[in-house]
Amino acid sequence: MSLAGSLFGKSKLYAEHVKVYPQRIWGRFRKLKWTTLAVLLGIYYLVPWIRWDRGPNVPDQAVLIDMGGRRAYFLWIEIWPQEVYYLTGLLILGAFGLFFATSLLGRVWCGFTCPQTVWTDLFMQVERWIEGDRNARMKLDQQGFSLGKASRKMAKHAVWLLIALATGGAWAMYFDDAPTLLRRFFTGDASQLQYIFVALFTATTYVLAGWAREQVCIYMCPWPRFQAAMFDEHSLLVTYETWRGEPRAHLKRETAAIAASGEKAGDCIDCGLCVRVCPTGIDIRNGQQLACIGCGLCIDACNSVMEKIGRPLELITYDALSAQADRAAGRPPKRRLVRPRTIIYAVAILLVGVGMLASLSLRSRLDISLLADRSPLFVRLKDGGIQNAYTLKILNMQQKSGEFSIDVRGIDGLEMKLIGTETGHILVTPDAVGTFRLLLQVPKGAAPAGSTPISVTVKNLATGEESLHDAIFNAPAL
Ligand code: SF4
Ligand code: SF4
Repeated sequence: MSLAGSLFGKSKLYAEHVKVYPQRIWGRFRKLKWTTLAVLLGIYYLVPWIRWDRGPNVPDQAVLIDMGGRRAYFLWIEIWPQEVYYLTGLLILGAFGLFFATSLLGRVWCGFTCPQTVWTDLFMQVERWIEGDRNARMKLDQQGFSLGKASRKMAKHAVWLLIALATGGAWAMYFDDAPTLLRRFFTGDASQLQYIFVALFTATTYVLAGWAREQVCIYMCPWPRFQAAMFDEHSLLVTYETWRGEPRAHLKRETAAIAASGEKAGDCIDCGLCVRVCPTGIDIRNGQQLACIGCGLCIDACNSVMEKIGRPLELITYDALSAQADRAAGRPPKRRLVRPRTIIYAVAILLVGVGMLASLSLRSRLDISLLADRSPLFVRLKDGGIQNAYTLKILNMQQKSGEFSIDVRGIDGLEMKLIGTETGHILVTPDAVGTFRLLLQVPKGAAPAGSTPISVTVKNLATGEESLHDAIFNAPAL
């Protein structure tokens, strides 16, 4: 059909959305999904409430991104804004972890740990509790308006909204002290921005997990599009053993017809349970599909059927395509977990992880910034000497006061004056930035015309830690 035909109503550009009503199923993958869900949601909702004593005048929340104080706290680790590369390192580590897991276990992220999957699972369970399992829900949706239907729908949406609100609220708690924010939120004293963010996250959770569900995975998420690059024939995927299941036969009549043609009916009895339990509504017997999130619920479903009819389990199974090909050909299945791509990802994880750990344990708790005055660049003193002025900032990243000394080198006869101290020793309070005016003077004729490189070293007198900063001293032509 042409585009014009589509636009003028002869056909639609997009397929109609068919609502999916996943059926309840129990089995080892469902159990694994519930366990993962409980652990992940537990971590997400509870972590902001964990306290961590860092001493006076410092937040005692174990995990906190303090935007106002310009700090991020992760247990004993405190990240300053100029150390944001650690967060970048974490993201890189996460990305390699995801590549590694995908190359080994296929779409394990999508099926078990992705927030979209976790919250959708939770919302579906609420739906099941209130509206019943698949058939009951389908029947309810087909019914006309009734008070019973309206009250069930309202109860479901109310619980969904409550969960969404808790999710949005928990997110905001990672950016502010959790108990304080909770109190302020309900007394109307939270900031406008906090209300906006909580509303935004509440709405996003409600819409994505309640309404959009599998459509996020199929149409919105970019990950399924490029994760195929991480698979190969040795990655574990949810697969249907076509060689064993086909030709499928639903009824005795069909089985007899197959037998009459000289063939033997396959193990699949075409009951459709694997399709009915699928959260994305697909049929895994049609082969690998982008919409398959690898949740394994069809395996649980099919195993329950095979158990009932007394046939071998794992007609739908979690296996490598190479092992499947071996089985189909009657060879013992071979799996290769260690492959070039898994080695590359593992080495990358190791390198980034060790690099981050080493850098974290060796990082300096002292940093300086030095900004030269631009206007004027220099001042000619009464005796003909030249003076440059700078703003010096000393970042004392320790949880105790620090006493510092300053040493400037680069020009013979260079003298230093620090506004506010005679000794050259300066104090900076814990976990703070000390700001000082630094005046550098050279006698007449000592500095060459133009820009001369100099170096400023700040030393913590208690720990001996040093921070060096290169700078420029400006002087006019004689
Ligand atoms: S086909 Fe199976 S593994 Fe894939 S999404 Fe559906 S139920 Fe989950
Ligand atoms: S659950 Fe198993 S037997 Fe039933 S249709 Fe799916 S593959 Fe066939």
